[in-house]
Amino acid sequence: MPNPRQTRCLIIGSGPAGYTAGVYAARAMLQPVLVQGIEPGGQLTTTTEVENWPGDTEVQGPDLMVRMQDHAKAMGCEIVGDIITDLDLSARPFTAKGDSGTTYTADALILATGARAKWLGLPSEEAFKGFGVSACATCDGFFYRGQEIVVVGGGNTAVEEALFLTNFASKVTLVHRRDELRAEKILQDRLFKHPKIETLWFHTLDEVYGTDDPKGVEGVRLRHVETGAITEIPCKGVFISIGHAPASELVKDTLELHHGGYVKIEPASTRTSIPGVFAAGDLTDHVYRQAVTSAGMGCMAALDAERWLAEQEGVA
Ligand code: FAD
Ligand code: NAP
Repeated sequence: MPNPRQTRCLIIGSGPAGYTAGVYAARAMLQPVLVQGIEPGGQLTTTTEVENWPGDTEVQGPDLMVRMQDHAKAMGCEIVGDIITDLDLSARPFTAKGDSGTTYTADALILATGARAKWLGLPSEEAFKGFGVSACATCDGFFYRGQEIVVVGGGNTAVEEALFLTNFASKVTLVHRRDELRAEKILQDRLFKHPKIETLWFHTLDEVYGTDDPKGVEGVRLRHVETGAITEIPCKGVFISIGHAPASELVKDTLELHHGGYVKIEPASTRTSIPGVFAAGDLTDHVYRQAVTSAGMGCMAALDAERWLAEQEGVA
């Protein structure tokens, strides 16, 4: 690959937003380059069944993302395995530095860096990460065959993770800080009916405890949010499923952001605060955060980039 690598349209991110932008930008003859990042395929590669992708009653998340990648490639989008470590948006063409040593220059930029799992920030959570504490049931559930597991959270992810973990665990306890879940009703129904799942309301995780040699979790200490009473639950696995934060570190000092770090875009568009820079998907969206809405925004970003480039080139 030439260095620097110049493209009319650089797409950063390979989730539904990035790949859809790749399909549309390629079909608009922008010869886009898409940089995949550390998680090729994005968040859906960390789940199993996806039941709300239109056209597929049920599809495996990783399979869907391979199909999206193949689709973008077939349309002419160049897909690169690299991670962008630095972005200069102060002059055009924009400059992006890759971990591989490649520098990318782009006339237009589509940011689709999505979101990442949040952690509670407890020292004991950090100490046992990878040794019983995880944020990905699909990745790590298999290690807990026949064991007891605790899942923390009350959204779709927590409920799906709890249900999925019943494939391995002898018992799953879902711990939530309120007495109401924000997960979809259909998922709640499945959760409440499941014989292996118990729900513990009004509790937060205080501490994960375990052994040092071999390193592993033995249980959790939970605190009642009103009384402060501590309850211990023995378990071998702890899954933290408390949501995701937008991956906006690259632009935190250059683009306008909302509270929580979501990139601001103009209404009914994907235009950011810098002309020529567009943003799509979970990076910008704290409301819907779905594969299909991210894909829709990826389409919008490519169309916005195409129109903006045409205006710059005086052909609009
Ligand atoms: P993401 O999928 O988050 O992808 C972000 C991409 O950006 C990744 O490829 C990453 O490698 C890349 N990236 C980040 N930083 C850099 C960088 N510096 N350089 C280069 N690349 C970078 N939604 C549904 O509609 N249905 C479901 O059933 C469903 N199930 C889910 C299950 C789980 C466990 C989770 C966590 C989420 C689920 N979601 C579901 C939500 C859905 O996955 C997201 O809404 C969607 O993936 C967001 O797409 P995105 O393209 O915005 O970003
Ligand atoms: P979420 O909807 O933001 O839910 C996070 C949950 O964690 C909430 O219940 C929250 O409690 C709890 N929480 C947050 N911080 C906490 C803390 N410090 N201590 C204890 N609990 C804490 O996140 P998500 O479940 O990851 O879902 C993210 C998005 O992806 C959503 O839009 C979701 O619809 C989507 N998604 C969709 C599917 C699907 O369609 N099947 C599957 C997975 C995810 P409170 O409720 O008290 O705030």
